[in-house]
Amino acid sequence: TARILDGKALAQKIQQELRSRIEQLTQTADRPPGLAVLMVGDNPASAAYVRNKERACQKLGIASFGRHFTADTPQEELHRAIDELNRDDRVDGILVQLPLPEGLDPVPLIYQIDPDKDADGLHPVNLGRLLRGEPGLRSCTPAGVMRLLEEYQIDLRGKHAVVIGRSILVGKPISLMLLARDATVTMAHSRTPDLTALTREADILIVAVGRPELIDESAVKPGAAVIDVGINRVTDYFGKSRLTGDVLFDSVKNVAGYVTPVPGGVGPMTVTMLMYNTVLSYCRTLGVEL
Ligand code: NAD
Repeated sequence: TARILDGKALAQKIQQELRSRIEQLTQTADRPPGLAVLMVGDNPASAAYVRNKERACQKLGIASFGRHFTADTPQEELHRAIDELNRDDRVDGILVQLPLPEGLDPVPLIYQIDPDKDADGLHPVNLGRLLRGEPGLRSCTPAGVMRLLEEYQIDLRGKHAVVIGRSILVGKPISLMLLARDATVTMAHSRTPDLTALTREADILIVAVGRPELIDESAVKPGAAVIDVGINRVTDYFGKSRLTGDVLFDSVKNVAGYVTPVPGGVGPMTVTMLMYNTVLSYCRTLGVEL
């Protein structure tokens, strides 16, 4: 059976490393790293994510500059808030928690974030840097997946990686990162015919779709590394709500070489890479290595 890619354990290890580095740097620096999360409205899932991020900050010694706005906040006010945070020297990372309530456009807000404070790595300058193969802040979920593959020394060079999902948040950036590591990358999406024929050819299979248990063992090449990015809330037979990925774990683990669980796989890596990005920008301002 497959080896489990333990994102929770790796996340803890990286967070521990970040915590020690922060402790060390704040002995001489005049301030800790700072992260500002802008939250608008009260989507319960978003609120939980934001709490999670703030808890991680606290654990690591990163100062939180969270701002919470009501759902009827005008777009202009959010632009002013980002402007202030861009100029605030205590803030190394800024992000807008998505999705925004109806009527607000996230794109111009993301464009307004100082690219060097863009903790989510979603600013076009950082996406451009990724495309060009230049250093920059990388989107957290894709970066977390790459760290997980690295930790378990999964060979990417010359391997066939199939990425299902083409979102700007996950599918597209992850494809570019795999390409930069010399994988042969195929991008699949909702219009790809015969998905199973394709995924069966994958040495590395990344699933970022948002469809519960889309992939079972019949779609997986024996020995493949399967990364499940999906987070879906489903109600089970007994009416109980639980989280599940895009991969039917109990089935896929019979044939795959490696597989990530949900929860405990990609999720914890995402928030950890957010902390990593914040500390990375902090180190850049201090002029030291992370
Ligand atoms: P999205 O809705 O923006 O994109 C989904 C993609 O899947 C689209 O590109 C679409 O073409 C493709 N798709 C849809 N149905 C398909 C099908 N039947 N076959 C093949 N492709 C299909 O979603 P997203 O933001 O990329 O997120 C994907 C999933 O990952 C969601 O479940 C989301 O909750 C989860 N997610 C998890 C993390 C994490 O930290 N683990 C972070 C971001 C997103």
